[in-house]
Amino acid sequence: MSGVNLDRAVGVLVGAAAGDAVGVPYEYGSRPLPWPGEEARMLGGGLGGYAPGQWSDDTEMACVIAEVAATGADLREDVALDRIAAGFLRWYADGPADAGIQTRAVLRALRGTAEVGAAARMRTRAAELHAHTGRTAGNGSLMRTGPVALAHLGDSEAIARAARAVSGLTHHDPQAGDACVLWCLAIDHAVRTGELDVRVGLGYVGPEWAALLDEAERSTPDRFAASNGWVVAALQAAWSAVAHANGLEEGIQAAVRGGGDTVAAIAGALLGARYGGSAAPARWRRMLQGWPGLRARDLTRLAVLAARRGRPDGDGWPSAPTVPSYGGSAKWTVPHPDDPGVLLGAVGALRPGVADAVVSLCRLGAGEAPLAGVPASDHIEVWIIDRDDANLDLPGVLADTASVVRDLRAEGKTVLVHCAFAETRTPVVAAAYGALITGSTRETALRRVRAVLPSARPRPSIVARLLATTQ
Ligand SMILES: [Mg+2]
Repeated sequence: MSGVNLDRAVGVLVGAAAGDAVGVPYEYGSRPLPWPGEEARMLGGGLGGYAPGQWSDDTEMACVIAEVAATGADLREDVALDRIAAGFLRWYADGPADAGIQTRAVLRALRGTAEVGAAARMRTRAAELHAHTGRTAGNGSLMRTGPVALAHLGDSEAIARAARAVSGLTHHDPQAGDACVLWCLAIDHAVRTGELDVRVGLGYVGPEWAALLDEAERSTPDRFAASNGWVVAALQAAWSAVAHANGLEEGIQAAVRGGGDTVAAIAGALLGARYGGSAAPARWRRMLQGWPGLRARDLTRLAVLAARRGRPDGDGWPSAPTVPSYGGSAKWTVPHPDDPGVLLGAVGALRPGVADAVVSLCRLGAGEAPLAGVPASDHIEVWIIDRDDANLDLPGVLADTASVVRDLRAEGKTVLVHCAFAETRTPVVAAAYGALITGSTRETALRRVRAVLPSARPRPSIVARLLATTQ
């Protein structure tokens, strides 16, 4: 799987979590939506009294599925479904601040049940609830469905069956299953091709969906806000937001207006599948956190492993404690020529006390990240691949990274910017930052950086992307 596809796979989890955390403050009218033109922000609060940047039940339950998918499990099989069902019960036992009505009704009845056979018992309970109420097409299985697609990328039959099976654990109504199938197949298509087309799954669902998607495209997301507890309206609101957006941030902002955290989490999974995890701004990624004690880097790990069927890459990343190919990376740092509060170096420079904040531009082993020795919200990991044509939107990522370095400096922190060997990524990010704070061109900023950074020999194709935009 290429770096671009992998970035998109990461986007499924990071996009959903970002949408969730941006939408949380506004859930069901917890606070008035921002005025048109103003952006929704990760303020926390909402129905669950969440911390700023904390994701809610939507992503919490998605993490349960992602953790099973990350083992390489086949999500159609009973053993995997049992593990997901048991994970949902563990989540419920931990006392989530918010849980959907249907999900709660199913999980409450199964407290303390054993893992073996848990999925069958959960399905039975969900069917009983459906027989009793006749209405179990809530949005609660759609909001968590994204990781199912990652487990079976490229296999539409498997995705359709797994999405329906995981949905059916708590939501018996076939409409809920249909919605999960449609969304997962759209996610799979976007991860593999970069195209947004929610109709690729129409052959797997009821005939009414074609007109429902047409209606979504003719409408704005807020048109569905009053009824988005219903899975059909939630999907329509999310698709309306995704289809009309020019990027991940814009789509999430629109989705929040279609139904707070849930619609934004649903939309975020597909937006991330199209635009990549790298399209989620660093100011969001540094804040993201939530049950079960995860942050953005953990979402990246789970998504990468799920998309790779549980297998790490040739360096053992993202599971191994170190990345062996970084052996011999230099320990020195040099001050940025335009700002001595920013240090430039290679991964070998990582050590507690080196700076107040760290911006990592390369893959880090599980044991290397803690070497930064800074609070997790001050360690920003950036997805840039030092190869030709391996990045989705390099100019966008360079601008965003320069901007978060400026934010950290405005907070009074010293910042280490490093990559593996300080050859390409460190100097180009340093140049983007230098241009941002001095107003000089990126070309002259890069020249100043190269004059002080002995290791710099940036890849020409990446320098070309740096110079392609002014800021
Ligand atoms: Mg929620």
